[in-house]
Amino acid sequence: MEIHVDPDKCCGYGDCVLAAPDVFDLGDDGVAFVISGAEPSLELAQEAADACPVAAIEITP
Ligand code: SF4
Repeated sequence: MEIHVDPDKCCGYGDCVLAAPDVFDLGDDGVAFVISGAEPSLELAQEAADACPVAAIEITP
């Protein structure tokens, strides 16, 4: 599974970080990124993607 945050869409609301704090973090630039080595379940990744108000998280199963 691959998880990608589109930096052009991300507005830094942090909902993904709240939904999956072991998977996503916010960079100094206010854009979310996937924490290196994170291997969440598809369910958790999808939950975080669904929490994003601008649909910036793409999941490739
Ligand atoms: S929820 Fe979406 S807009 Fe908010 S920080 Fe995460 S990826 Fe960015």
